[in-house]
Amino acid sequence: MSKKDCIIVGGGIIGMATARELAMRGLSVSLFDKGKLGMESSWAAGGILSPMRPWSEHPFSAELSSQGKSCYADFVEALKEQTGIDPEYYRCGLLMINQDDVEQTRQWADKNKVIIAENYKDYPTNMRIPANSIFLPEIAQVRVPGLLKALHASLLKLGVTIFENTAITGLQLDKRRCKSVQLGSEKYYADTFIISAGVWSEQILGSNNCGIKIKPVMGQILCVKFAEQQLETMVLDGGHYFIPRKDGHVLIGSTMEHAGFDKAITQKARNGMMEWACTLWPDIARAEFIKHWSGLRPATDNGKPYLGQLEDYENVYINAGHFRKGILQAPVCARKIAEMVC
Ligand SMILES: Cc1cc2nc3c(=O)[nH]c(=O)nc-3n(C[C@H](O)[C@H](O)[C@H](O)COP(=O)(O)OP(=O)(O)OC[C@H]3O[C@@H](n4cnc5c(N)ncnc54)[C@H](O)[C@@H]3O)c2cc1C
Repeated sequence: MSKKDCIIVGGGIIGMATARELAMRGLSVSLFDKGKLGMESSWAAGGILSPMRPWSEHPFSAELSSQGKSCYADFVEALKEQTGIDPEYYRCGLLMINQDDVEQTRQWADKNKVIIAENYKDYPTNMRIPANSIFLPEIAQVRVPGLLKALHASLLKLGVTIFENTAITGLQLDKRRCKSVQLGSEKYYADTFIISAGVWSEQILGSNNCGIKIKPVMGQILCVKFAEQQLETMVLDGGHYFIPRKDGHVLIGSTMEHAGFDKAITQKARNGMMEWACTLWPDIARAEFIKHWSGLRPATDNGKPYLGQLEDYENVYINAGHFRKGILQAPVCARKIAEMVC
């Protein structure tokens, strides 16, 4: 195969968004994934376009989140126009009910000029919402499977060469440069290489990882469905949340588990999330149960993603470690990497 301008290893939301940005700038791009594009952590995500605890974010990550929020509507609109697939960007707001978090959120909102509203009442009558909860009307959601489908379609239109079910086994490094990626005995050449393999990024770099440390934090999530939409806003209660879709689906999330690369779903987690959900909103018990799934969030020690050129290699970049904000931060991180590469 002819040499490309860029090779991207890992086709989750981060790799796909990065491939799109580079291809839109006229570069030839190959994107490799060990499975199907987007089917790991990215597919598992709920699609909340906000950090869960904005006041405690690392400043660099907070800036990416803020820029992500600002550009998301346009990002989705452009994808929709290009592909005809609607990722259902929906500014439904978020009701924060956890009493320990409310005051911190209020102070953070004040400092960052984020609009909050008190006395939000537009939730089901039997939902047990504490009196001093706060509503953040500007927070949006996106439906991630649709978003990934749209990204995939966009990459095909832009002429990105996609290799699925193709696990990269290593990088061929020579002094300060990478020459090719290896796939068993085959080699693929490019001028620039970008690692965006989520929790597997460290493994791909192997002993040349330049101190990159990304650990998996498993999250499980449930989906139920009402005949029609019952709830209009997302509800966040510490680590738990509801994400309602316009067609009556409601996601109930999520767990945070340190179980290495094991992502087996458990009855214990399902029971725990159902118990929280039914206590807060008894109607959940009569909704149809649809699905239970999990994914591995790529976490870093200091809470900020790795974004940029690797210290020891002038043509190798990394875009990974977005933990709970990869969906939110994907468009802005993709743009930043593309600017660096170009
Ligand atoms: C339950 C849950 C809920 C979440 N909710 C939200 C949310 O509401 N909002 C938000 O912003 N974020 C959310 N996240 C976080 C978000 O999903 C992640 O931050 C994001 O998906 C990370 O994207 P990624 O592309 O880096 O990783 P991934 O999607 O995991 O993609 C990495 C890809 O690399 C591929 N790969 C691995 N090894 C190789 C190899 N050797 N060769 C080739 N390819 C390889 C994998 O197959 C995979 O497709 C959630 C995560 C979970 C688990």
